[in-house]
Amino acid sequence: MSTYTVINPATEQPVQQVTLTSAEETDAAIERAATAQRRWRNVAPGDRAKLLRAFAAQVDAHIEELAALETAGSGHPSGAATWEAGQVRDVLMYYSAAPERMFGKQIPVPGGLDVTFAEPLGVVGLIVPWNFPMPILSWGMAPALAAGCAVVAKPAEMTPLTAIRIGELALQAGLPEGVFQVLPGKGSVVGQRLVEHPLVRKIVFTGSTEVGQQIMSGCARHIKRLTLELGGKSANIVFADADVEKAAATAPYAVFDNAGQDCCARSRILVEASVLDKFMALLEPAVQGVRVGDPTAADTEMGPLISAAHRAHVASYVHADAPVAFRGSAPQGPGYWYPPTVLAPVAADSPAYTQEIFGPVVTVTPFTGEDEAISMANDSPYGLSGSIWTSNVGRAIRVARGVETGNLSVNSHSSVRYWTPFGGFKQSGLGRELGPDAVDAFTEIKNVFIATE
Ligand code: NDP
Repeated sequence: MSTYTVINPATEQPVQQVTLTSAEETDAAIERAATAQRRWRNVAPGDRAKLLRAFAAQVDAHIEELAALETAGSGHPSGAATWEAGQVRDVLMYYSAAPERMFGKQIPVPGGLDVTFAEPLGVVGLIVPWNFPMPILSWGMAPALAAGCAVVAKPAEMTPLTAIRIGELALQAGLPEGVFQVLPGKGSVVGQRLVEHPLVRKIVFTGSTEVGQQIMSGCARHIKRLTLELGGKSANIVFADADVEKAAATAPYAVFDNAGQDCCARSRILVEASVLDKFMALLEPAVQGVRVGDPTAADTEMGPLISAAHRAHVASYVHADAPVAFRGSAPQGPGYWYPPTVLAPVAADSPAYTQEIFGPVVTVTPFTGEDEAISMANDSPYGLSGSIWTSNVGRAIRVARGVETGNLSVNSHSSVRYWTPFGGFKQSGLGRELGPDAVDAFTEIKNVFIATE
């Protein structure tokens, strides 16, 4: 039996030992899920909805406990972790409305009529990363359960604690055994079995583009359905006609949220050249004002990175002669701390400008005019998120249409909204999560012809 010791990234102290699921145990869980799903799909839609609301109520009653677990196991500031646990509740509530609204169509055809049914896919495998263990779990779990699928979820090996607890809360809420299971373990063991097992009909994966490619080719062998949410290198585009004060004040939160370990991080700030100096003068105090420190403190805005290895990876982008314009603060002593760091000017071919760093490092680069802003934003294999700052409505729409990315905000640093579709262009992914249509991704459409003659 192998185990993994979860480490508190802020203290480097052990939090809890977790037993890792083996390949054989994964197979057994998938088979249990397949059996449970045959019953779950036949639970009356209104009853399935009630169970999802009961699940949301259980999560709501344990928000503080879940948040404290995330703070200890992932280093998320307690305010952020509380919001993340609340998002699990909200996403469950949102999709609890779906089972009673899964309508088919009636299609007039010669000699009879045709009706369509949205049938649940079956067992769904969720492979969840370490950066947002609770929200990303809920984005797949809630619509899949609503659709009548059974879910087998694999949290990241480093951050399994909240997912395990959410699995227990599902049972306490009355979800039948086997409908939602959480299997802590390694990607190369549990994740791979989910991809390979023929009873798993769909994989929802969030993580690196490299592993996403492997999973896509594994799914191809079984023609297995797949949603991929992968990396990003998103642009935060600031035009001279914008509220430059607001753009600069919010820019740190668009990239340093979750210590930059965010696929939506707007880690390339593009600023119209005529306001570059003004923007940089405003950005410096905003970056230095980010409160980095003890994640258990209520006013902390940024915690540590997830691990020592990840900190070394982030630091590799800020080599000795890197163009550091200015930095924020970070605690000394134990913990995987890294200060918010602004690089400028950076060459367009430098790894810090082109690669996903997944840490609190941002580049600032000037542009001239709309066309250059769009072409610089699009000069990336990724296309996940982005922000546009301008007071010109026409420009906002033109640039929003021109930037090849899945999720944009205008005059705002927001990124993911569970009411709206979320997903990437280009190498940032495949398919969409969230929003009103997410349940469709967990169903197949069946048409039935009924002869009337
Ligand atoms: P990975 O892509 O390796 O991990 C994401 C999830 O996939 C984890 O649960 C992991 O399991 C699992 N996994 C790994 N290998 C396989 C496999 N062969 N088959 C099935 N599942 C697998 O991300 P990392 O955690 O290694 O992070 C590396 C980089 O990826 C980051 O620095 C960042 O650039 C990017 N990333 C992007 C994310 C996003 O939200 N788009 C999220 C996380 C990372 P295990 O627990 O064993 O790692």
